[in-house]
Amino acid sequence: MESERAMVVVGAGEAGAAAVTALREGGWTGPLILIGSEDSLPYERPPLSKSFLLEEPPPGPRYILTSDRLRELRVTTFFGRSALSIDRSRHTVKISDGANVPYERLLLATGAAPRTLPPRYGSAQNVFTLRTHDDAVRLRGGIVQGSNIVVIGGGFIGLEVAASAVSRGASCVVLEAGPRLLTRAVPEVLARLIQGRHEEAGVQIVTSASITRIEERAKQTLVILDDARAFYADMVVVGIGAVPNVKLAEAAGLFVDNGIVVDETLATSDSNIFAAGDCCSFPHPLYERRLRLEAWRNARRQAMTAAANMLGARQIHDDIPWFWSDQYEETLQIAGICPDQPAVHRDLGPKGTVLFYLDHDSKLVAACGFGSLIVIAKEIRFAETLIARRLKLSPVALADPTMNLKSLLVG
Ligand code: FAD
Ligand code: NAP
Repeated sequence: MESERAMVVVGAGEAGAAAVTALREGGWTGPLILIGSEDSLPYERPPLSKSFLLEEPPPGPRYILTSDRLRELRVTTFFGRSALSIDRSRHTVKISDGANVPYERLLLATGAAPRTLPPRYGSAQNVFTLRTHDDAVRLRGGIVQGSNIVVIGGGFIGLEVAASAVSRGASCVVLEAGPRLLTRAVPEVLARLIQGRHEEAGVQIVTSASITRIEERAKQTLVILDDARAFYADMVVVGIGAVPNVKLAEAAGLFVDNGIVVDETLATSDSNIFAAGDCCSFPHPLYERRLRLEAWRNARRQAMTAAANMLGARQIHDDIPWFWSDQYEETLQIAGICPDQPAVHRDLGPKGTVLFYLDHDSKLVAACGFGSLIVIAKEIRFAETLIARRLKLSPVALADPTMNLKSLLVG
């Protein structure tokens, strides 16, 4: 039966776009509303640090939903408008044009925002972060043949931008605070291989870099470290992590703790409000702890689970985490959450390296690989299935590069 109240989705990014599609395709016939702060159709962010910076001419935004598709799905859109507050007792969302939008069920898909540098570093004109298409347009304008790019942060944004910058003929230095690259999600063995690949391409990597000051000198920006080393930049790109957008949820009195806290069905502490994507902290049954993932596939899959549950299903979200990062011609892919413990190494020679993590019961809990896209993608796809099937595996078989992982699936 049609209801006057709508299914309302706040945040028109990866998760928001997937959610409105899943809600309509899942049988919701009533009003469906998508509210997004950016004045744009929903678009993919992954190309912004890769093909958008590399290709000539620059490709346009890769839209997730076109205007035609939104019309077909009968989605009412409020783009360029932010949700300001939620009145949980009246079931309404107040948006920035003053309207109050009534909801039957509400999904918060507000994503994350780039962490900014501490004010004590000082400020300069040419310092940018990367999250939106507009940010990428600014970066592309500065990443040109012969320019000096200083990247702060040796995480995913930093390394993907560095790869794009040197591939376009710019010089690039990466300043990472930690003792190595990619400390957050990537095991040291692979981080070292990735560092080697960047150095081979001409990127200068400085680890344990402690920045004391960023200053303007003539038309350039100077980044100064505590050991007095200084780096001139035509442009500084800051990729020092992302913080979940939780203010709306917090002000509405929902539980928040490193993200909007949801249960295994992605419902928040209010059973009529759900959350999905980078903004949400959820319990994962396999890893028996809360995770907050900042990854493309997670945003899409959580949106689908949340949409089904907004329509009354009680699905548990137990998708195996998976993500990728493309740098140069290589790919990094991870299935599961890599624990801090020794791994089984599978050496595929020039095609790459894969690491497998087994639990105390010899069941696979995570795998990650770096190397040729076709080879690594295939290995990690099988690993993902092996993780999901909870099969007992032999470390010797996993380490043997001549052993086809597919053959292990039969158990
Ligand atoms: P977002 O896509 O950030 O969407 C959230 C939206 O909500 C935003 O448009 C925001 O403006 C809006 N919003 C926030 N608050 C409000 C409000 N109050 N009212 C209305 N709207 C609001 N992941 C990978 O797995 N692989 C990759 O290679 C990869 N590359 C990436 C490259 C870049 C440059 C970036 C930035 C991210 C990349 N990611 C990658 C991560 C991936 O894009 C994110 O995990 C994904 O976009 C998260 O989707 P989301 O919907 O949760 O958040
Ligand atoms: P990130 O992967 O968390 O990496 C940030 C890095 O910056 C960390 O290594 C961090 O070190 C370091 N750092 C923190 N403070 C610093 C400082 N003051 N000086 C120097 N280094 C510092 O985050 P990100 O690369 O900024 O990415 C932001 C978002 O975009 C995330 O959501 C990410 O998932 C997404 N993204 C994903 C991909 C992908 O999956 N392929 C690609 C691009 C972007 P510590 O860990 O020691 O703090």
